[in-house]
Formats: sequence, C-alpha cells, structure tokens
Amino acid sequence: MSLVTLQEILKLHDGAVGAFSTYDLFTAQGIVQGAEEAGFPVILMIGSGPLNKPGNDYVGQLMVQLAKEASVPVCVFLDHAKDYKTNLKAMKLGFSCVMIDGSHLALEENIAITNKVTEAAKLLGISIEAELGALAGVEDGEEVKNAKMTDPAHVEEFLSKTSVDALAVSIGNAHGFYKGEPKLDFARLKAIAEIAKDVPLVLHGGTGLTFEQFARGVQLGIKKINIGTEVKKTFIGAFIETHEKNVSAYDMVEIPQVCKNAVAKMAKEKLEFFAKGWKELV
Ligand SMILES: [Zn+2]
Repeated sequence: MSLVTLQEILKLHDGAVGAFSTYDLFTAQGIVQGAEEAGFPVILMIGSGPLNKPGNDYVGQLMVQLAKEASVPVCVFLDHAKDYKTNLKAMKLGFSCVMIDGSHLALEENIAITNKVTEAAKLLGISIEAELGALAGVEDGEEVKNAKMTDPAHVEEFLSKTSVDALAVSIGNAHGFYKGEPKLDFARLKAIAEIAKDVPLVLHGGTGLTFEQFARGVQLGIKKINIGTEVKKTFIGAFIETHEKNVSAYDMVEIPQVCKNAVAKMAKEKLEFFAKGWKELV
C-alpha cells in the first residue's frame, strides 16, 4: 500500500513534490514508473474536465490501483474542481486529495465552498488543496480568462478561516504554454510564505518555467509543483515521432509503450530536480 495523502507526501523530503496530469492508462503508468525509477514520491493528478468525461471513472480507479501497487508513495489528486459534486466523485473513487478551486469567487465565497468540501474530505481522512488568486490560461477544461495574483493581505484571512493542507498561489504563473518568457513575482511569494507559515504552497503552471525559477520557488516555500502541459506535449510528441517512422504500421501496441517511457523519463527528471537538484541552484 503506497497510497498516501497530500499532507503525508509533502513531509517526506525537504524539496517539492511533482504533480503530473494523467489522462489514461499509459500516462498514469509513465508517471508512476518515472517516480519509481527516481525513488521519489509523486502526485498522480487528473483534472475535473478529464475525470468527468463519460467512462473516465475507470481512469480514476486505475490511478488509485497503480498508487496502491507502487514501490514509492503516491498521492492520487483531483486537480481544479470548482464544484462539490466532482470533489465527492473523486472521494468515492478513493483519491487521497482533492482540490476545491474557488479562486474565481469573492474571498468569502471561496472560504465557504472550501470549508464545505473540507468537511467531507476530513471525514474521509483525505487532504485538501485550495486556491487563492487565479491563474491565466487553460488547464484541462478549466479556463481562467483574467489572471489575478494572490493578494498577501487575503492569505491570513483565508488560512485562519479554513483548514486546508496546501494552498495554490498565483504569482505570475499560468496554465498552458507561456507567451514569451514567464516572469514570477518572488517578492509576492516571499510575503505569502511568511504569512502562510507551515501551510505548504503550490505552484501550478510548471510547464515552461526554468530550473532557476523552480529552485527559487522551492527555496521560498513551494512544496508541490503541477506539470500538466508537458505531459501532453511529451506523450503526443513521442506518438507522432514513432508513428512517422513507419506510418503503415498503425502500431497501437508499441507506440503507447514508447510514449509511456517518454513520460516516465520526463517525470523522473522533474522529480529529482524538485526533490534535491534545486539545492544546487540556490
Ligand atoms: Zn492548475
């Protein structure tokens, strides 16, 4: 049994733990394989968009099963659910952490929906992540049109009125591909971290950030880094490249294996850097 909660997994080392988006059997296997090869814990996550597609409860079930059989600790995580119903679905599937994203709401409403989902999560002994300040870009069906950086003045009120296990922040990070060079507001992150104290902070929109930016973020208190777009880019890139070597084969047996191994390699490198490689850059 290696299925652990977010609260547990973020205490296993002094770096950050990578959270990678899952879409199917092969992405899930690739992410777990990468973590096992690295020998570090991992967060296997799925967005509310993909989880709510017809029949995709099975993807959730296989994520939980793979976590239980893994040789490293794995947290199975629901990413960005704005509604109570999807959070309950993930809890019923056996996920060990859910994320209620009320970042598009006014502060009081965000606190209210966060507490409603937290109550159910705590009854089941699972962890909860919330978000304060919204991100630009699209992540698996959830779109935020206007970025709204996290206001440090709101952090104390939010954390004193909720009991979340991790808080996602908006400091210039974005979902999808960055337009131009990403710029992160580290002064803001530092201010937020000083107020949040021992509540772990989460950096979404990890695809496209530099190693220096990851290192500085981890140094300032980031304990979880979300990688979504890079999983898709890695998988589909490997698929196209392999298919084009022999287009008449339509090889549905070997191509997914190549894609799985490509995802594993990407996840392994990221997990190693987030766990310990960052220390060499600060
Ligand atoms: Zn996100």
